[in-house]
Amino acid sequence: MKFIEALKLRSKLLFLFILVTLGLIVIAIIGTININHMKKNIDSLYFGSLVPVTELSEVIQIYDGELPSTVFRAKASEISSDEAYSEIKASLHKIEKIWNSYESHFKRDEELQYVEYVSLEINNTNKYFKKLLEYAEDGKNFEKVSIPVLEKKVQHIHQTIKKLINYEIEIAQYERKNFLNTYESIIKEVGLVLLIVIFGVLIISFYVFKSIQNDQTELEIAHKKLKRANKKLEDASYTDSLTNLHNRRYFNLIFEKEVQRAKRSKKYLTFMMLDIDYFKQYNDTYGHIEGDNALKKVADNLNNIFKRPSDYVFRLGGEEFGVLMSDSDIYNSSEMAQKICDSILKLNIEHKGSEINGYLTISVGVVSCKVNQSFNEEQLISLSDEMLYKAKNSGRNKFVIYDKECS
Ligand code: GH3
Ligand code: MG
Ligand code: MG
Repeated sequence: MKFIEALKLRSKLLFLFILVTLGLIVIAIIGTININHMKKNIDSLYFGSLVPVTELSEVIQIYDGELPSTVFRAKASEISSDEAYSEIKASLHKIEKIWNSYESHFKRDEELQYVEYVSLEINNTNKYFKKLLEYAEDGKNFEKVSIPVLEKKVQHIHQTIKKLINYEIEIAQYERKNFLNTYESIIKEVGLVLLIVIFGVLIISFYVFKSIQNDQTELEIAHKKLKRANKKLEDASYTDSLTNLHNRRYFNLIFEKEVQRAKRSKKYLTFMMLDIDYFKQYNDTYGHIEGDNALKKVADNLNNIFKRPSDYVFRLGGEEFGVLMSDSDIYNSSEMAQKICDSILKLNIEHKGSEINGYLTISVGVVSCKVNQSFNEEQLISLSDEMLYKAKNSGRNKFVIYDKECS
């Protein structure tokens, strides 16, 4: 069933549809053929045997009843010879008509010979009655007609036709048996075809649906992979590749939201602007690669200090970093800023070019306040920038905090 797997969803459904349609067509064709077969059987039973039996019985009745009765009544002078003439003529005409109709039905080969014999016997018997017709025509009475001869003739033709009736009944029984056998085999054949078609359609449907399910699963897996890849891509677009800190884009995304939240909650918001001291000289002394390594160490150090989910550390560009803290008052924020300066110094990164103490240091501008409605993000950034400038100008390796209202 590999070819089903290879089909597209629409083709799979089309394939199933064609299969079911073909199955129905096969059932319809076989059903029609068999119904036609059964119709032929019924026709042959009805016209080949039952109708002939009725016709032959009518002929016997005329020979047994009508004709002898006319002769008896004519002999007893109950009817005139004219009446006898017309009654006998009518009876003979009826017999001829029925016999012709009987002969016109389908006959088997083995039947034909006996039918021919019966036809001769009927002619013979009719000849006898035609003689009586001549009697009547000549106006003779029927006194001289011999009853034993009449009875013998009637009895003989009765037996001859009766034999034919029995033969027709036998044929009818045989045909009925045949019909029942055909009926049974048709039921079996149609049932078998139906079973095969249903089974075939079920198996193919199973494979088609299994394959559709596989496609669905593959689609879901692909969708999950795509989602993960998108998430990675999004993370990457918000992450600084050198330090793994949040980048400036993420800062732009988060900063405004956090300021708005601080305004709503009326809690403290702290923003720190950090800049490494004499970093140009560091690069000049140790080279750019060492400069990058120093940046990574500073970043790792900042990440270790700020671990609360509500704290954010950003690399804003070059050797400048930003820290955003919520719900941290002036006292706590000052402590944290001091902690930054101390911990960077403690990294003991040699910096011969520094005019402070021969080690890498950092300056921090801090703003910590409850933000008023009228206060905006730009003001917060420029205030922290101002504080950083003050820290730089007052000797570096220190923090300066803005401790007034943010309004
Ligand atoms: P100050 O104490 O006044 O801040 O002095 P500074 O030398 O640090 O001055 P400034 O902040 O203007 O210097 C920024 C320097 O940082 C310039 C550049 O050599 C260095 N720098 C910026 N981005 C990178 C970086 O990605 N890698 C490295 N290695 N150095 C960088
Ligand atoms: Mg700088
Ligand atoms: Mg600097």
